[in-house]
Order: sequence, then structure tokens, then C-alpha cells
Amino acid sequence: MNIILLGAPGAGKGTQAEKICEYLGIPAISTGNIIREALKSGTEMGLKAKSFMEAGQLVPDEVVIGIIKDRLKEDDCKNGFILDGFPRTIPQAEALDTMGVVIDKVIDIEVPDEKIVARMSGRRVCGNCGASYHLMYKQPKVDGVCDLCAGTLVQRKDDHPDTVKERLTVYHSETEPLKDYYSKQGKLRIVEGQEEVSDTTALVYRELGE
Ligand code: ADP
Ligand code: ZN
Repeated sequence: MNIILLGAPGAGKGTQAEKICEYLGIPAISTGNIIREALKSGTEMGLKAKSFMEAGQLVPDEVVIGIIKDRLKEDDCKNGFILDGFPRTIPQAEALDTMGVVIDKVIDIEVPDEKIVARMSGRRVCGNCGASYHLMYKQPKVDGVCDLCAGTLVQRKDDHPDTVKERLTVYHSETEPLKDYYSKQGKLRIVEGQEEVSDTTALVYRELGE
């Protein structure tokens, strides 16, 4: 099954992508994580993306489309994949169609803006391996330390409140129109984000099963 996860920044797409990955045994592909990796290793693509990302703006379409084109060619995508954070604009969705990629379901996780702002302030990531945590919803076993690699947990630059507001504005203008795009194709499934991660996961699984 080929799945897209839609939703505002901080709606919990990444967390749900990991759950679906375990559940269905297909890879979760996060353009955000791929870009952050490139940034860390200082590749040309990383350098191009840096200023956009840190300002809370979208990285240009041609850059992310290139990333996805390459990633979907890899062997592990043969039996399906979960796209987390792609597409984020209509041209990105059209690029998937042009590539001949057939999407089965688009799960949209809905969380109101006020909640997003509150949630993002609690978000932390491992500076070493990129694993994500939350001060309230997904605490590490030891405060400030990554469960997986013992790296130090930090706040992403683009999770600071002003940048979050910019990202929400961008989400509403650029990404939200995708709901209509996929609704017209009969693929859109809406899930209300719950307080408990596992409750949201249950709703996501139900949509995937139907
Ligand atoms: P979140 O879903 O919490 O916003 P991501 O890790 O998915 O975070 O993305 C972080 C940033 O990476 C975005 O704000 C944007 O700058 C860039 N990015 C990720 N995916 C895309 C995409 N599909 N198109 C353009 N920019 C992207
Ligand atoms: Zn780590």
C-alpha cells in the first residue's frame, strides 16, 4: 500500500508514520528527516535547503521532488511506502502523478492551530540520530537523552514559536489545498488527532483497514 500522511507541522505525522511502518512493514519516508541529514553532512542539497528550513519556509519543489524521485527508486519501496511530509504543495502532488506513482490512501491528521503551537514547544529531537521526543507525549527514559543512541536532545531551530507560526501560515496556504486534491480522487481519510498518541494510531489503522 502506498500511503501519504498529511497534516500541519506538529500534528504527529512522523510518530504515526513510524507506527504504520511497524504495522505494515513498509518504509516511512520523511523529506524533513532526509533534508536534516543532508544539512548535517553538509551536502550541496543540504546547503540549498538550510535557509528555507530555518525560516519555516518550504524548500523549493524541484529539490524535494528530486529527493523523493531517488528515494522511491530504492528496493525497499517495492511493496509500498509511507510518505511523511511529502507532498506539501500541489506541484509536488502532480509530480508524483507524473512519475506514475499510484497513491492508495491519504491520511490527514487534523489538529487545531492552538494545539499545534503548544505541542511544538515541547518537541525535542536527538542531535545525533534525529529521533523525536516530546516533553509531554513521548518522553525519553532519561531526561534530555536519546533512548536509541544516548545523544543529547535539542529543540529544532524551526520549532521556536515565531517559526512555528510561519510554518502554520505556509501549511494553510500551500499544503491544505492538497486535501481537496486528494478528496477529488476519493483517497482522503480524515483522522482527528487525539491527546493520546495510541488513540490516534487506532484511528489511523481503522482508516487503513477500510
Ligand atoms: P514538520 O512536519 O514538523 O513541519 P518536517 O520535518 O516534515 O517537519 O519538515 C521540516 C521542514 O523541512 C519544513 O518546514 C520544510 O522547510 C522542509 N520540508 C520538508 N518536507 C518538505 C516538502 N515536501 N516540501 C518543501 N519543504 C519541505
Ligand atoms: Zn539518538
